[in-house]
Order: sequence, then structure tokens, then C-alpha cells
Amino acid sequence: MSSISAPRGVRDILPDESWKWEYVFKVTRDTARDFGYREVHLPVFEHTELFSRGVGETTDVVEKEMYTFDDRAGRSLTLRPELSASMVRSYLENRMDKLHQPAKLWSAGPMFRYERPQKGRYRQFWQIDFEAIGSQDPYVDVESIAVSLEIFRKLGLANLEVVVNSVGCPVCRPVHKEALQSFLKSKLGDLCETCKGRFNRNPLRILDCKNPVCREITEEAPDTISCLCAECSEHFSAVRLGLDRIGAAVSVDKRLVRGLDYYTKTAYEVLSGDLGAQNAVCGGGRYDNLAESIGGPHTPGVGFAAGVERIVLTMEQQGRSFGEPPVLDAYVVSPDPSSRDESVALLYEIRRSGIAADIDYMGRSFKAQFKTAGGSGAVFACVLGPDEIATGSVTVKNLETGEQHQLARAELSSFIIEFKSAKVKKQEGNLL
Ligand SMILES: [Zn+2]
Ligand SMILES: [Zn+2]
Repeated sequence: MSSISAPRGVRDILPDESWKWEYVFKVTRDTARDFGYREVHLPVFEHTELFSRGVGETTDVVEKEMYTFDDRAGRSLTLRPELSASMVRSYLENRMDKLHQPAKLWSAGPMFRYERPQKGRYRQFWQIDFEAIGSQDPYVDVESIAVSLEIFRKLGLANLEVVVNSVGCPVCRPVHKEALQSFLKSKLGDLCETCKGRFNRNPLRILDCKNPVCREITEEAPDTISCLCAECSEHFSAVRLGLDRIGAAVSVDKRLVRGLDYYTKTAYEVLSGDLGAQNAVCGGGRYDNLAESIGGPHTPGVGFAAGVERIVLTMEQQGRSFGEPPVLDAYVVSPDPSSRDESVALLYEIRRSGIAADIDYMGRSFKAQFKTAGGSGAVFACVLGPDEIATGSVTVKNLETGEQHQLARAELSSFIIEFKSAKVKKQEGNLL
């Protein structure tokens, strides 16, 4: 029988990498707190309707990329392809409109899209998601962009470009759609096959087609900004002014339309110069009509999602620090089978004092246990043999320096803890 591998397009995040993810989540969590966002855990699957109505029937995501299935009771469910629709659903369902507005919420977890796998793109991928629901203040848009930039600043990401655009609203979007269609009508035959299909259903997406022929054709096409109504135009100016005030360096990209139907007014992306074709580390915008499209009252909102795989990839490429990988403090070595029970007792003794410790479970020899101790990353090997048991002591060997001495067993934990805190102080001193 052949062994089973993971499905195409998904991968395991193994211990050598997962600690780096933990660092990204820690920075995210700290930044969320600093900006007044609170964490929500959302379900991985939802009613299919949430996405077909919320994200939009004619988007690539809903048309081609969703993992949709019937459960045993015949309900159509979908593995979430993104988080904004779920967050707004949760806001409405849990009457978060009764809380302080806007409700500032964040979440993180895996998303699922049936896409062609390539570097930095998987069928299960992790996102960090921030949403501010209940206000149309342009400064909330500014703050949303600012949160993402602050996370990236703390992570040390460089070579980033922030692009913004306004995609209008139900008042001005039809005006733009008409202008765009009449501009493209005579050139329809030259567009790529995908864009030909978009012409009637979703012509806005033709503007961000990466096909060079399509790009050339749309070079002079009417952009959304030139068609904005007074309200959208004012809002966009206020967002740009606000970004200027907080010192965020952004540029306007008139082609930026984002792939999801729910965006209104502000759309933005953060691009990494080091990622190649899949270069967006973060994308977001305002979605003032999303709540209505899923059956709720009119509720404005703005938010973004950032890809964890791409953040980690960019940090690795740029040689950024993920902090210290988690290692053991101590490894308990038992030189003789007769002392093993007492060694296990010692192991739990020091673990209860907050020391990360382990022991051999493979029946290794005394020498091999030392080798394992060295490979574990532990600083100390703590030897407990018949001699030590007889004298109530432990032999401690510093595996980095080779230094070795005997301690009273009762002093072992505080010795290791003091050593650790002195090391941390020294590292902090080096940073200053
Ligand atoms: Zn408008
Ligand atoms: Zn095209």
C-alpha cells in the first residue's frame, strides 16, 4: 500500500518554521492591542450563500476557487476563501452594533482557495485579518492602513510599496462602468480571453489584468477616480490627507480594483518588491455595502487581510529576525537505570519551576544521552545518578562551555533561572 501524502497545494508548517509564524502572530497581537482591535475566532466553514452574496457571484473567488460541499444534511457549505464576509456576518449575528462603534476586530487562520499552486501561493493559506465595522470616517480607513504598516514595520519588512485607489460606490460605479465599456467596445477583440468574459459581467477587473496586451489597451481607459461622485471624491481626498498627516508614504494606483465585489471607496494593497509575481503581502479596503448584501442593515466597514506565508517568505528573503527559536533550558541525564525514576521526578520538579526540560525516552546510553542533550539546544545537562541521589545533589554541566559543578538539588531551579535572566539582560545590554 502506498503512503498517503498531503493534497496538492497544501503543506505542513513544521517546527523549524512554525516558531517564525508564532513571532509574526505575537507582533500582530501586540499591534492589535495598541490600536484597540480585539480578537475573534471565526468558523472555518460557512453557508455558501455568505460568500456568493457577500463576495459576489461574478468574482473569480466565487466562480472558480471555492471549496464547496454538501454536508450530511444536504446544506451547501464552503470553506472560507476570505474573512471579511465572515466577520461582518458575525458582527450582525452577534449584534455588535450595540457595542462601541466602530467594532474593531481581528482574526487569524487558514483560508481555502482552489488556485494554481506556486511559490507563495497555496490552496490553504493563512491570513491575518483586521476589520473596523460601523463607521464611514475616512480616518478609520487611514487607521486600517496604518495598522498593517505598523505590523510590517515591527517585523522589519523593507522594500514595501503602499498603493491606494478609490473604486467608488453604487452611485458612481455604474457611471464608470458605462464609460469603461464604451471605451473598450471597439477594442474587445484584442483583449485576452479572460477579459472578454469580464467585459459584460465585471469590466472593472479588466483594469488590473496582468496581460501586457490588455494593459496597453487600458492605458488610456477611464479610471474610477475620474468618475467618482462628490461623496466618494471627498472621502478619497480625506483618506489621502489623513495618510499624509500620519506620515504614511503611499502612492495612487488607478488600476487597483481588487478582486472582490464588495469594495467601495478606498481600496489598497501593500506590495513587496521581493516577492515576484505574487507580490501583495496585504490587501484591503472599504466595503460599505457588504452587510446589506448578506441581508443586514446598511453598515459601513473597512479592513484588510495579510498573508502569513508571504510575510514569512519576505522576512526570510530580507534576512529579518524572528526573535529566538524556542529551545530547552535543561536536559536531565540519568547515568544508570536505577536512578531513572528519581531523574523523572527531578524533571517534573524543574518543569514546575518554569524551566523547559526534557529527558531520554529511548533507552540511550549515558554517552548518547549527553549527545541528545547537546542536540536539543539545552544549555544545561543535569545529571542525577546514584552518587547524586545519595548526597541530595545534581551535577550540572554547561553544554556550551563544558563547565561542570555539583549543586544541592534544591538549588538547581533557581540556578538555571538566574542564569537565564542574566543571559537575557546581557542580550538587552548588547542591543542598547
Ligand atoms: Zn460614489
Ligand atoms: Zn486581460
